Amino acid sequence: MNRPRAFVIGAGIGGLTAAAALHRRGWAVTVAERAPALEPVGAGIALAPNAQRALDVIGLGDAVRAMSAWQGEGGLRAPSGRRLSRTTQEAAAERFGGPVVVAHRAELVALLAARLPEGAVRTGTPAELVDPGAAGAPATVRTADGQEHTADLVVAADGVRSAARRALFPDHPAPRYAGFTAWRFVVPAPERPFSPHETWGRGSLWGTVPLRDGRVYAYATAVVPAGERAPDDERAELLRRFGDWHHPVPDLLTAVDPAAVLRSDVYRTTAALPAHHLGRTALLGDAAHAMTPNLGQGGCQAVEDAVVLAHHAAPDPESTPSALAAYTRDRLPRTMAVARRSERVGRLTTLTSPPALALRTAAVAVLDRIGPRLVLRGLDGIADWRPPEPYAAGTQETETEADRRQRRRRHREAP
Ligand SMILES: Cc1cc2nc3c(=O)[nH]c(=O)nc-3n(C[C@H](O)[C@H](O)[C@H](O)COP(=O)(O)OP(=O)(O)OC[C@H]3O[C@@H](n4cnc5c(N)ncnc54)[C@H](O)[C@@H]3O)c2cc1C
Repeated sequence: MNRPRAFVIGAGIGGLTAAAALHRRGWAVTVAERAPALEPVGAGIALAPNAQRALDVIGLGDAVRAMSAWQGEGGLRAPSGRRLSRTTQEAAAERFGGPVVVAHRAELVALLAARLPEGAVRTGTPAELVDPGAAGAPATVRTADGQEHTADLVVAADGVRSAARRALFPDHPAPRYAGFTAWRFVVPAPERPFSPHETWGRGSLWGTVPLRDGRVYAYATAVVPAGERAPDDERAELLRRFGDWHHPVPDLLTAVDPAAVLRSDVYRTTAALPAHHLGRTALLGDAAHAMTPNLGQGGCQAVEDAVVLAHHAAPDPESTPSALAAYTRDRLPRTMAVARRSERVGRLTTLTSPPALALRTAAVAVLDRIGPRLVLRGLDGIADWRPPEPYAAGTQETETEADRRQRRRRHREAP
């Protein structure tokens, strides 16, 4: 029997994971990426245990777990440095079956790309969805060289500004500006071991987390009008906004090359799509559900999407339309719930009025005293996700130590 064919538009984290997961299920995959090379932004990405378990499905979970660099205590702080809430990786592992790992995006992309056969990824290749396909009719994609490609399944993983989404659901509202911009950069750690922190100020936040190669990933957000850019350079802008925050923020800003500071306005999906598929075309990752970065889940949800899609995609191409209906059923409610929760946390970090800020600080302190650490509580019901069953029993790699710990915890908590 001929292998079923999938065409993936976009080689971001979502597209590459989907291609790897489909390849593992016996599909022939082609990935078209419009960028000239797989050179992801110089930034980190938090991968919570839900994403690590999804990556187990394609044999990468342990490679990602091995990137964990967080040591000691981390948590939430005020700009003065005062601790508002504390947490440790052990607490995260105890709660969710594993630590939250922060990887360099380049490392993650390299791992994903290495899971694909030679020549599967075509860079410098913009692609356009021509026909989403239907039961009994393949989908068609046209690449910029004018070539038309038919496929049993098209995965549109073309990001927040997805042209495929507009083609499938032209009347659906476009993602909207979330009200804040984000800066990111990577620099050598000012000290080792380095304790991570996230610090909430007035309408702004700063976070710094260690990477395993001795560098740290720093990120910041601030409430500003969409499209605004620094009159000089973005490092100078960060110094104006965060230069008097607690150690190590000023030192990191002194160390970074202004050209290495990335800035992107944050956009989010405001309304659920009618479905995450049409005909034989699936929308995946930010193309389907762009969310604010406050929970560090946009990429994690893209990775979940990818393995659930591959799980439903049977080797018989004729069943693709019904497989995609199952994909929408599984993914649409979950991703929108995660997006809404992320937005709620985002609202807390963008408060600017002094009474609201005082209330927030008091509430964080109280919540931290009475229950599980605030930082972890935000991921309840999210970070404990597991891939669909046949994977867990079959193609998934062997159970990890983190899984064993979580299974024991569940066993202890069972009524
Ligand atoms: C500041 C910030 C911090 C974040 N931090 C985290 C975090 O810690 N953890 C986390 O899980 N998530 C995080 N996210 C979210 C995460 O980055 C995204 O959710 C994730 O990258 C989405 O992956 P994707 O593959 O869906 O889309 P993208 O990464 O946007 O990839 C889409 C790809 O499609 C390509 N493309 C577009 N159109 C075409 C076309 N016509 N033809 C061919 N190729 C095309 C693009 O070039 C791109 O490579 C963060 C986001 C921001 C803004």
